[in-house]
Amino acid sequence: MFDLDRLLRDNIRRLVPYSSARDEFKGEAQVFLDANENSLGSPLTRWYNRYPDPHQWKVKEAISKIKGIPPQHIFLGNGSDECIDLLYRAFCIPGKDNVIINPPTYGMYEVSANINDVEVRRAVLLDDFQLDLVHLENLVDENTKMIWICSPNNPTANSMNRQDIEIVLNNFPGVVVVDEAYINFSRHKSFIQELSDYPNLVVLQTMSKAWGLAGLRMGMAFASEAIIDVYNKVKPPYNISQVNQELALQALEEVGQVNDMIRQLVTMREQLATDLAGLPLVLKVYPSDANFLLVKMNNARGIYESLLEDGIVVRDRSKVELCEGCLRITVGTEKENAELVEALRALSR
Ligand SMILES: *Cc1c(COP(=O)(O)O)cnc(C)c1O
Repeated sequence: MFDLDRLLRDNIRRLVPYSSARDEFKGEAQVFLDANENSLGSPLTRWYNRYPDPHQWKVKEAISKIKGIPPQHIFLGNGSDECIDLLYRAFCIPGKDNVIINPPTYGMYEVSANINDVEVRRAVLLDDFQLDLVHLENLVDENTKMIWICSPNNPTANSMNRQDIEIVLNNFPGVVVVDEAYINFSRHKSFIQELSDYPNLVVLQTMSKAWGLAGLRMGMAFASEAIIDVYNKVKPPYNISQVNQELALQALEEVGQVNDMIRQLVTMREQLATDLAGLPLVLKVYPSDANFLLVKMNNARGIYESLLEDGIVVRDRSKVELCEGCLRITVGTEKENAELVEALRALSR
């Protein structure tokens, strides 16, 4: 049912990828005169005069050990944003193909589609923020290449029902992208262990959230070897810099520290949810599987602006469908959370 060759754009199927000096010679040598690098060195220390490993094998090995996924099933992008954009470029013919998103959801699926001139169809979530499978199915036609599922979802903070995602994976013959940017904060199981069951599955994760490295720009895609080969064919040859590879490797050694932060953030999220729910101007705090809370309030826009005057920035989602009257609030430090709650308490006096 899933035919990768048929889904790919013709130009991508036929593409002869760029072959770098590092692709053509991989062995050991003393003298490297093959890549037009500056042989004298650089103003920086170490080997920054050399091009980085185009396939980031050391980083992938380290991720492989943590996730239990072989390196050939991993693609690394300059943030998830690159992992998203490359899928459009590989699969979607501009002006002809379409994709389906499930709003309210992460904005980049639609922006990236617009950049690539790809039609976006919208299966708005149900009132409980779950997938509307009937609507989804009705939107699919022969030009539908991808379905984007964000779980846990931004900005609604909930996870999608696992069975619903499985139904989509089992019935949609195109690519199903499950964006798990917030999976580490969730009680639910990741889909990365299911790659062998679903040749059409792409799981996105990132080092920007739980790993605390939004500044690094390191996105991860997990998929079949065939899909990872497509990614490697269309990516810019050196999309992850040497600096980023080294820092990612360092960070990946600190998985214990990261797990501690995740536990702390989850505890603080529950505390913040309780504190917010006790405030008179808060109408509802939605359950969260992420490191943020969606909070419904009386006069959300006004509260947003008052918080700004106190120097506190949250995200105004009050005009977003299904999130009417809501602010999206990231879990901060203990001190920041206390400041937020105090500022809100002052507002209700
Ligand atoms: C924050 C976020 C990302 C991360 O994007 P990066 O480009 O890796 O920083 C991806 N997906 C969702 C849904 C997010 O909220």
